[in-house]
Amino acid sequence: MSRSPVSQPARIAPLAVLPVFYRLTGKPVLVIGASQAALWKAELLASTGAEVRIAAPEANDALAQLCARDDASVRHLARSWHEADLDGIALVVADVEGDEQAADLAAAARRVGTPVNIVDRPAFCDFQFGAVVNRSPLVVGISTDGAVPVFAQAIRSRIEMLLPTGFQKWAEAARNWRPLVQARDLSLQARRTIWERFVNAAFRHPDRTPGEAERADLLAGIEQQKRNPALGSVALVGAGPGDPELLTLKAVRALQSADVILHDDLVSQEVLDFARREAERIITGKRGHRPSCKQDDINALMVSLARDGKRVVRLKGGDPLIFGRAGEEIAACRAAGVAVEVIPGITAASGAAASLEVSLTHRDHARRLQYITAHAKNGKLPDDLDWKSLADPAATTAIYMGKLVVAEVATRLLEAGMAVDTPAIIVEYATHVRERRFHTTIGEMAGVFAANQLDGPCIILFGQAMSEARPDRPS
Ligand code: SAH
Repeated sequence: MSRSPVSQPARIAPLAVLPVFYRLTGKPVLVIGASQAALWKAELLASTGAEVRIAAPEANDALAQLCARDDASVRHLARSWHEADLDGIALVVADVEGDEQAADLAAAARRVGTPVNIVDRPAFCDFQFGAVVNRSPLVVGISTDGAVPVFAQAIRSRIEMLLPTGFQKWAEAARNWRPLVQARDLSLQARRTIWERFVNAAFRHPDRTPGEAERADLLAGIEQQKRNPALGSVALVGAGPGDPELLTLKAVRALQSADVILHDDLVSQEVLDFARREAERIITGKRGHRPSCKQDDINALMVSLARDGKRVVRLKGGDPLIFGRAGEEIAACRAAGVAVEVIPGITAASGAAASLEVSLTHRDHARRLQYITAHAKNGKLPDDLDWKSLADPAATTAIYMGKLVVAEVATRLLEAGMAVDTPAIIVEYATHVRERRFHTTIGEMAGVFAANQLDGPCIILFGQAMSEARPDRPS
């Protein structure tokens, strides 16, 4: 059975609000009220270059100071608001008393289609103000959709610490130099590569004010792209066994610059969340015992995408070089002259051993560690397994893809002389939140599969070293 690669529909989970960044330069906005909250909003709006009108019958010192500022356009309308004040207004923000007033204003604003925000009355708000990290032109907005603004403020402080103030200068320089790149006839891909080089430099020297040297470097990047347009590439990336924290930094970087991601269904959503939003995701469904794409189709797709200039990430569960058909994929890339890179990942056996807090090569028990697949090309037990080695009491063995053949494996191990009470541990969904662990023995391990519905990926670890695993609550 085979199925074609299918695009995954949803790239993002439901969003409470849409973060958009609205340019207000020169646009009239109306603020109603002269309370501290209203005046802070007026100041915030004025900082974007908006023309702020404040409708408030009474002035106060803070209002007078704001109106007197040279660097802001703020005008006081010394009266209550009228419906006509809303004409041609980009946004209206109000601090009013009582639900009735709030409802009147919200209704009036809606009649003319002006988005409204009423302080502390979320039911009447079309939009909200997030917490802001300001490195203009680099701006970060944080919202909790009103759930807990204090959380947003705490996150803002964290981001403030993480985001060097010097990034402001880098973002400004990028804005000034953008026309240099836009003016050249370059592919989108080439432009992206040029800006990635710029961004890498910003991360290396956040405190440097970009000047002539950086500008020259940008121009050099442009020339290089003109001479040598960006070629596509393939990276075989290990996604680890499930817990996204087990991704390598290199894997995250690859995911963030990918154009296309081809992934198995073993790869968890939490891992995919690290990918660049715009990256196309294609499931290749390489899961044992289920319909999946043919390996040849995957190879062909990967190569053709790379030849189109795409940066392809071939994302595989665990480590790509362990039972991941990486050999065929690397060979296909080499044959097609496509650049290929491998980014290793944590294999299921290591993830499971970490959960069990057990050394796979415990000095007292194991002199050898062997990873085997119990799943040959035809789905049956491979007939060339070396049972003598597998039954070696001084080895630890990890069986990948062993689910369907476990009973036969146990029989053959016993026939080869392995002790029936040799400890074996089955770990389903190792390192996922839904991980389950079953401590058993060679003699009884097939029964564990029969008695429990183990639908997830399972790794079987056996050998004397497993006697050192941390004891488990019964599952
Ligand atoms: N490259 C992967 C292995 C791919 S073969 C790696 O290095 O881990 C697929 C098999 O790996 C599954 O059938 C299962 O035996 C094992 N496996 C992968 N992820 C697992 C997980 N999170 N928990 C338990 N076993 C897993």
